[in-house]
Amino acid sequence: MYRDLSFVDLMTDVGTWDIPRLSMLFPESIITHIMAIKCPSSTDGNDMCMWRWTPKHTFELQSAYFVLSSSRWSQKRAIWPVIWKFNVPQRVRLFLWIAYEQRLMTNDERCRRTLSSNPSCLACSNPHETVLHVLRDCHCSRHLWLHFLPASLTHSFFSLNLQNWISCNLSSTFLHPQWNVSWCSLFASIISCSLVGARMVTGLWDL
Ligand SMILES: [Zn+2]
Repeated sequence: MYRDLSFVDLMTDVGTWDIPRLSMLFPESIITHIMAIKCPSSTDGNDMCMWRWTPKHTFELQSAYFVLSSSRWSQKRAIWPVIWKFNVPQRVRLFLWIAYEQRLMTNDERCRRTLSSNPSCLACSNPHETVLHVLRDCHCSRHLWLHFLPASLTHSFFSLNLQNWISCNLSSTFLHPQWNVSWCSLFASIISCSLVGARMVTGLWDL
């Protein structure tokens, strides 16, 4: 039965995943993964079966063995020990990692996955609610940062890209002069608790 299925058979007329149809074919754990993938569109090309791990996208047993036997974690990534050895609760580490990988379900990300048609920020009407916008640039986030940010750290704080921003601040050895706490701990607490918590409390997010 599966052999004859095309992507179009699993989509609705309006171009979204057909959940009832998927539910007839796959367990919920698989559907969750499928839902996280952007729906294909007619501009993506013909519907065909491809193998992602070879240059020509044709299946080769050697490539399958390589994928299964190799570690998917890159231990050389500098951010890895910065986040996972950070002295904060595990849920905060996990949140930092998800944010760093840009996996937070912002409206921009929901649109990219065709789960929504509105990518804008509902708090300030910015056209794109990206991870960096939520955590740093939205007006309420910016206001919070400016309240806590020591003057000596304001340089480049609002101009770094997301990954450099998280990496630089978590690696900081600066001690906050007013509260005598490390800036990196304060930074982690603010982005994982205050900013996301505020969006949940105000109903903007329902994580
Ligand atoms: Zn905003």
